[in-house]
Amino acid sequence: MIRSVTLGTEKQFQIGKIVCVGRNYAEHARELGGEAPDFPILFLKPPSALIFDGGEVIYPSFTTNLHHEVELVLLIGKDVNNGTTPENAKAAIAGYAVGLDMTARDLQRQAMEEGNPWTVAKGFDTSAALSSFVPASEVPDILAREITLKVNGEFRQKDKLNLMIFPPEVLVANIASRMKLEAGDLIYTGTPKGVSPVKKGDLLEAAIQGVWKLSVKIV
Ligand code: MG
Repeated sequence: MIRSVTLGTEKQFQIGKIVCVGRNYAEHARELGGEAPDFPILFLKPPSALIFDGGEVIYPSFTTNLHHEVELVLLIGKDVNNGTTPENAKAAIAGYAVGLDMTARDLQRQAMEEGNPWTVAKGFDTSAALSSFVPASEVPDILAREITLKVNGEFRQKDKLNLMIFPPEVLVANIASRMKLEAGDLIYTGTPKGVSPVKKGDLLEAAIQGVWKLSVKIV
């Protein structure tokens, strides 16, 4: 199945790989009992994990501790290779969205303890929720904005995006130094503090101040 997103009124991108960043906010790293990293912690989700605004997150049968992680999501608009300049890395960010990195926390902890990959804990069906994209050129002050997540109308996460350890253009350059980025790739940039469990029937409402909204239901 080909998945695509539209940017503004005309440009369409076929979605490629989904690169996710772990522990990109110091207080979130602390709440999970980890250190703030020196280089971004990276993992991948498959494009088949995507759902969109109004969609349903299917609570997996193999977890008993499903968590929300609200995140700024970058859309890559042109290819970026190792050795890119900071200017080029910044120019490669075509759009911003708000997303949810749904996480089976019990499986992730077990994987960490056993030294195994996080793939199943992070890449299950419906684990990547995504709003529509807004062109990056329309939001020069993105980091000054607040990202929020409500569960059943109550705030669970609420922080400024400028608390990120690695800002978007640094993430793009660092990721490209390890694997090339291509037009249509997505980057989930990590979550601020306040992650917590959800249950079937919960309504999750993610937002970034001003522009973006994403609602999904846990079923
Ligand atoms: Mg995350």
